[in-house]
Amino acid sequence: MQPDQEYSIYDHWYDNKLILKSPVKEYAMPNSVLIINCGSSSIKFALLLKDQNFRIHGLAENLGTPNARIKGVTLGNEPVDIHIPNADHKEALEVGLSRLANHKPDAIGHRIVHGGTLTQAELITEDIIDIIRDATPLAPLHNPAHLVGIEATRRLFPDLPQVAVFDTAFHQTMPAHAYRYAVPKFLYTEHNVRRYGFHGTSHAYVSERGSELAGSYKQGGWLTAHLGNGSSTCAIWNGQSVDTSMGLTPLEGLVMGTRSGDVDPRLHSFLAKNLGWDIYKIDKMLNSQSGLLGLSDLSNDMRTLIEASEQGNEDAALAIEVFCYRLAKSLSALSCGLPRLDGLFFTGGIGENSAFIREKTMSYLPHFGFNFSKEKNDNLKRGTEGRIDAGTGPQIWVVPTDEEGRIAQETSNVVARGVENSTTKKPEAATV
Ligand code: ADP
Repeated sequence: MQPDQEYSIYDHWYDNKLILKSPVKEYAMPNSVLIINCGSSSIKFALLLKDQNFRIHGLAENLGTPNARIKGVTLGNEPVDIHIPNADHKEALEVGLSRLANHKPDAIGHRIVHGGTLTQAELITEDIIDIIRDATPLAPLHNPAHLVGIEATRRLFPDLPQVAVFDTAFHQTMPAHAYRYAVPKFLYTEHNVRRYGFHGTSHAYVSERGSELAGSYKQGGWLTAHLGNGSSTCAIWNGQSVDTSMGLTPLEGLVMGTRSGDVDPRLHSFLAKNLGWDIYKIDKMLNSQSGLLGLSDLSNDMRTLIEASEQGNEDAALAIEVFCYRLAKSLSALSCGLPRLDGLFFTGGIGENSAFIREKTMSYLPHFGFNFSKEKNDNLKRGTEGRIDAGTGPQIWVVPTDEEGRIAQETSNVVARGVENSTTKKPEAATV
């Protein structure tokens, strides 16, 4: 079945008119949170322990194939590489978690790409599962895989609180003039066609941490650039998202590893009429064969492109140029959502590690009074926090993202909310 054929939207997530029907249990506060990020054939998992302040990571990949395996490190820091031929998600979780010795999770946080119009993380109940399922047409590659992960962890840990943390939730503060498309109104009112935005966990964490580093915790106007395989920008005013580059789906906006980002919407009819392509072929081309990969005809990986460009590959050089120009253009456009611009945060694999891409992007942003410091940028150690402007004008920072930490924090908060609401248990502070 093609992903769009099951399209149906239920009225319970239009305008937040959600009524939770299923009973919510009371849970003890978590000391350790298991974070699950479930893809169609892979699971990234991490266990975050509150008291000992450390993390255990694992990756199960090629699930459902003879090459299925789990990679990670044990508590004793030993590398793990276990071959689990044909294992499914549940088996992979069982094997992976059996390595955690005494460190069993107290709560589970699932990263969920699309949560419709839900505005915050939620305890997983049958209603929440319905909402995740109903949002499948808007994230056909991600949401079904998340449901498989939820099903597996519910079977493995039926008594643990499980929380869904949505990439879309942070952007629910966008005003209508930022989230509406200029298409007939009924597409919004009857079919929820609007801009949602993604990478919310990262934009939320980075803007919070960055504004704290800048001395104005959650105050003022900031732009964030999350640059990884998927990339997006966000404008944040006083801690709330006011606009973002991704839209109805994670395809809108910036040039990404394999995603085109913005194209003329008539490209679809052009390809259909002139090349006879159907909608699935066009979708696949725009999602998996475009972006850096499409432009360079070489790779979706920025490191590979930088190396190739240094060796004279002109397609790689152009792909990098388009990436940086389009990023700068997006940041300039999003600045319209801010009453004042206090600064810019770079994050994600590219934003955190590539001084070259940061410098090239800033060269396309001459109009905001940014005073970029080449020296500070070049000297910033890869993957560390640091300020890279010369001390005047809007600030520029590199802030490594921590989506896992944020998901653990939100999971704890949701469990705490349940405990606070209960009359029988005393509330405690919840941080992991
Ligand atoms: P994901 O979206 O899958 O989480 P990441 O945030 O890990 O992706 O970012 C992956 C991207 O970061 C890749 O394009 C990779 O080449 C790029 N990257 C990582 N380190 C560097 C570096 N030192 N210089 C340039 N690009 C880098």
